[in-house]
Amino acid sequence: MTANILDNPIFTDETKAREWLEARVWPKGPVCPHCGSPEKITSLQGKAHRHGLYQCNEPECREQFTVTVGTVFERS
Ligand SMILES: [Zn+2]
Repeated sequence: MTANILDNPIFTDETKAREWLEARVWPKGPVCPHCGSPEKITSLQGKAHRHGLYQCNEPECREQFTVTVGTVFERS
């Protein structure tokens, strides 16, 4: 069996699922689930990070999070 991992539809679906979820959880843009601030959020998309990871840059917080943090999707 030869499997090309990039052909696996799960990857596409995972991205679509995350984008779908982000649009509903954060209709006005990402909000930090730790401190509740929407002011200083940066996206950490890149080779070293999985897509959908964000960094809160509030001095008292500085937590990293994804859209599933604090939702039923994380606890399942
Ligand atoms: Zn925060």
